[in-house]
Amino acid sequence: LVIQALKSAARNERMKHSVQQSTELYPLLLKAAKRYVTGEKRQDAIPIAREFIAKDYQISIEFIGENTTDLLECQRAKDEFLQLIEDMGTLAMKQTVSFDLSHIGLSVNAELAYKHLVELAQKANQYEITLMISMEESSKTSDILDIYKKIASQYSNVGITLQVHLYRTEEDIQQLIQYPGKIRLVKGAFQEPIDVALKRSAELNERYLHYAEQLINANHPISIATHDEALIQEMEQRQYFNQPNVEIEMLYGIRPDLIHQLKAKGYRCKVYLPYGSEWYLYLCHRLAEYPENLFLAVADIINP
Ligand code: FAD
Repeated sequence: LVIQALKSAARNERMKHSVQQSTELYPLLLKAAKRYVTGEKRQDAIPIAREFIAKDYQISIEFIGENTTDLLECQRAKDEFLQLIEDMGTLAMKQTVSFDLSHIGLSVNAELAYKHLVELAQKANQYEITLMISMEESSKTSDILDIYKKIASQYSNVGITLQVHLYRTEEDIQQLIQYPGKIRLVKGAFQEPIDVALKRSAELNERYLHYAEQLINANHPISIATHDEALIQEMEQRQYFNQPNVEIEMLYGIRPDLIHQLKAKGYRCKVYLPYGSEWYLYLCHRLAEYPENLFLAVADIINP
């Protein structure tokens, strides 16, 4: 029930509007969000990114947003990403920029998303920056993969996220392994019908290991994006993290202790740093996937 309520709250426009308008609630929730979000602007994300880089982490920056149906908003989002790439490039940050295709045009049409993606890929290429496309609801998977295949055959600096929980991933991975782009393996954040996706389970973890092993055996660039400690321990025992082309990636503020330990062992570790005024959506997602975080949020709000 709590999970459902948080997921609905994330997408409820009236609720979002009320939060944004409330001079009392807004700063309190923003305080809780700051555990997971670097701030509202890219100028908030970049100094935090530089701190991580100074400690020898890699980073991935996302300007938060999804399902943008207004053409002008899509252009604005694309321009923000171009500026982010420019700022990172000027600072010689040869790192990663992450985004949802539905933030830059897919919710208008696939052509617009592709056109904007080409602009981003050209600019990123100029600065040796990698782009990582996120994976969204299963209703969009085919469109996202079609766009990825088109761009990946021209730009090797563009990668794709694959959700292990989708049954279709077994076939998708066979095709995607043919492209040079990095594959970020995630369990999957969206609630999907049971004939489309597996729930969190031992079987899901087995599949995770299976796909990771396939990619590692093919020496394909892979990002192991999970906070699941038991799964990580299993992969460590199997020596996955000592292989070339393998990195471990976690979301900012989630299991910072674990990524710190892995970094101390000398593994390649990356932190995913989101920013943007849509932090409310992002906060709701993080609370929904792990409701124990509600206690942390309350503590963050209460603590001076
Ligand atoms: P789970 O089985 O969900 O959790 C295992 C354990 O991890 C939990 O018991 C807990 O200890 C810890 N944990 C998990 N989540 C939290 C949390 N919020 N707070 C505190 N502890 C937690 N999903 C997509 O669908 N599309 C994407 O493009 C996408 N990109 C991602 C990029 C990165 C870098 C990462 C790390 C995740 C991304 N995800 C994406 C989210 C992913 O699909 C999962 O929903 C999320 O990572 C939680 O699953 P898990 O693998 O950590 O394991």
